[in-house]
Amino acid sequence: MTVRVRLAPSPTGNLHIGTARTALFNWLFARSQKGQFLIRIEDTDKERSKQEFTENILEGLSWLGLNWDEEPIIQSESIHAHKDAIQELLVKGLAYRCYATENELNQMREQQKLNGLPPRYDNRHRNLNQEEEELFKKEGRSSVIRFKIDDNEKIYWKDLIRGQMIWNGADLGGDMVIARRAPANQIGDPLYNLVVVVDDSIMRISHVIRGEDHIANTAKQILLYKALCKTEPIFAHTPLILNSEGRKLSKRDGVTSIKDFKEMGYTSDAMANYMTLLGWSPPEGLDEKFKIKEIFPKFRLERVNKSGAKFDWEKLNWLNAQVIHSWNSKKVLESLKPLWIEESWEIPNEDWCLSLVELIQPSLTLLNDGKEEARPFFELPPLMKDGISQIESKGAREALQKLLTEIDQSHWDKTPAAAQKLVNDFCKSQDIKKGLIMKSLRAALLGRMQGPDLLATWSLLARIGKDRERISRCF
Ligand code: GLU
Repeated sequence: MTVRVRLAPSPTGNLHIGTARTALFNWLFARSQKGQFLIRIEDTDKERSKQEFTENILEGLSWLGLNWDEEPIIQSESIHAHKDAIQELLVKGLAYRCYATENELNQMREQQKLNGLPPRYDNRHRNLNQEEEELFKKEGRSSVIRFKIDDNEKIYWKDLIRGQMIWNGADLGGDMVIARRAPANQIGDPLYNLVVVVDDSIMRISHVIRGEDHIANTAKQILLYKALCKTEPIFAHTPLILNSEGRKLSKRDGVTSIKDFKEMGYTSDAMANYMTLLGWSPPEGLDEKFKIKEIFPKFRLERVNKSGAKFDWEKLNWLNAQVIHSWNSKKVLESLKPLWIEESWEIPNEDWCLSLVELIQPSLTLLNDGKEEARPFFELPPLMKDGISQIESKGAREALQKLLTEIDQSHWDKTPAAAQKLVNDFCKSQDIKKGLIMKSLRAALLGRMQGPDLLATWSLLARIGKDRERISRCF
């Protein structure tokens, strides 16, 4: 069997992390089986679907490194096939028109509530005779089309993640609407479950891998496959992504779209790596830090967990830092430069920029940290409390003043090694403690007592002529 899987996003919002994780599992499975990964844009909700969201979804998938094998299918373009399938079900007597008005249906639900029953359609128009139908039509009633679901039916499937599944027909809410309300001589807009079955079948999808929130839909879809005499795909339901409280990750948890993560400074490699770990455990001997392009041959759906996967920011941050630290400085610079340009900073030559990157790279967790870490090299940092108290400590100002004279007189080549030599010689000739000059220099250059390597910092600032002004502001 040729493995053909698909991602079927609705373009009603930006690429959501849950959809992206489903995409990853589909992609990993397809690639591990030498199969195909396809995309179907489910745009039948005309009001909420937008082209910009389709673009965002495709861009997000590409950013994560997921490539697809055929042109994306646009669901709304197959509406004739969907309506033909509904017609087929009507002709076979497996679907029927239901003329119940919204009002009547609401009353029915109210009554069920009063009786302590769960809401469901009571199949009231399943067996209308011709006269009854004519009467409704004469009244000018519109109708939806419903697919018959037998309460006694048991639906079985072998789920590749969850094992043997059984679902009761009685738990599917009664006969299911497959076409929206329309005048009684027309077929209204086809609805999700019917459309998915028709499309998956046309696309020859072999495996449907999607979130466990679709389990009840799978039961309904299996009944439709049977009714339409189509071959069912194999199903696999992935666990949901949960927040730290164990609830489904939602907008309220802050970021949920891939674009948000990208804008925060997460790298695509770390995101793809982390999302794969959200629900999948690598086989023994395989490191948790990996590139999806390298590990796909080892991906097996059997190793996807059944229970929900808690989103762990710390782990994602750790992976992101690992990825950034593994890049060469040129690649890091490519990501940081746009952030610096945004700040309207005057950016010196490439060599200088690369030295700055080498200095700050080990302290980056997010790419965006590269803005704050670089700020003191582009803007004069204010003197902070700890910096001021260092400068005011005994002998500090005099030492800095003497150092400034030394700098002005010597022609050092502004490398960290030369800075080291200058400080050593200076301390010896002036009989000044090295600790005093180093601490005071740090306070002068960075305004505070914490920061990156001092000699490298000094060297960078000296190369753009910014060390003098910082030292002289102290007296
Ligand atoms: N459009 C559906 C969704 O985004 C597709 C579900 C499926 O994979 O069948 O949830």
